[in-house]
Amino acid sequence: RGKKRACEQTGVVAFGHELPADTPPQALLDLIDRLNADDAVDGILLQLPLPAHLAPQPFLERIDPAKDVDGLHPYNIGRLALKMPLARPCTPRGVMTLLSAYGIDPAGKKAVVVGASNLVGRPQALELMLARATVTVCHRATADLAAEVAGADILVVAAGVPGLIRGGWIKPGAVVIDVGINRLADGTLCGDVDFAAASARAAFITPVPGGVGPMTIASLMQNILEAAERRDPSGNVARHG
Ligand code: NAD
Repeated sequence: RGKKRACEQTGVVAFGHELPADTPPQALLDLIDRLNADDAVDGILLQLPLPAHLAPQPFLERIDPAKDVDGLHPYNIGRLALKMPLARPCTPRGVMTLLSAYGIDPAGKKAVVVGASNLVGRPQALELMLARATVTVCHRATADLAAEVAGADILVVAAGVPGLIRGGWIKPGAVVIDVGINRLADGTLCGDVDFAAASARAAFITPVPGGVGPMTIASLMQNILEAAERRDPSGNVARHG
């Protein structure tokens, strides 16, 4: 809903293709092929997660990398890994925009990313490396998460575990970015960081909801505009958009 609303607000024409949950894999591949071939389409977004019978990777790889506005095609992840980013995954890009907007330069800082998923943690580590931080990536097999977190000048958490990061682990003065979005039994949303305790030690900390989430959507809009501009180097997109 938020993505569709942002399209309306920015003048992007969004065509939703809402398929039934039991869609056969070939039907989804065929739809992606049609969108790839349609010159009126600048960007394709495959909303994840997919139903359990559809593993996302073959579909993400089917999207034309030039129209991959989520930045999740291996070509675009590879570009980021090689320090030549084009389309950048939206959530990590949004985190970098947030840091920059608050004048926080990762260069020379110790950055710790908790979570190593293809969607968030991994590309986040690549973004922070590109910004010249010294990066540690933690995941389920990390032996001493508290000790890793305690060393972080910049901490980005994307684990999907409410309250995973205790306030007392945070280095005083650290920057804490909580990507996690968890729905509790009472229906409320919370992040992966114990916000109340962590905010007493952090210099900056993002709330959940309302912190990283809107940045993800803003980054998607940037990616769409940039994809459209690359497909139309005449500049008409920027003039009319
Ligand atoms: P995922 O389940 O694919 O990956 C979770 C990662 O966290 C894995 O690498 C796992 O090893 C690690 N992890 C899990 N438990 C851990 C633990 N106890 N200790 C250390 N590491 C642990 O999830 P994802 O798709 O990367 O999403 C992570 C969270 O971010 C979710 O809450 C999701 O809803 C949220 N999210 C938010 C946005 C946004 O726009 N704010 C976007 C994407 C995802």
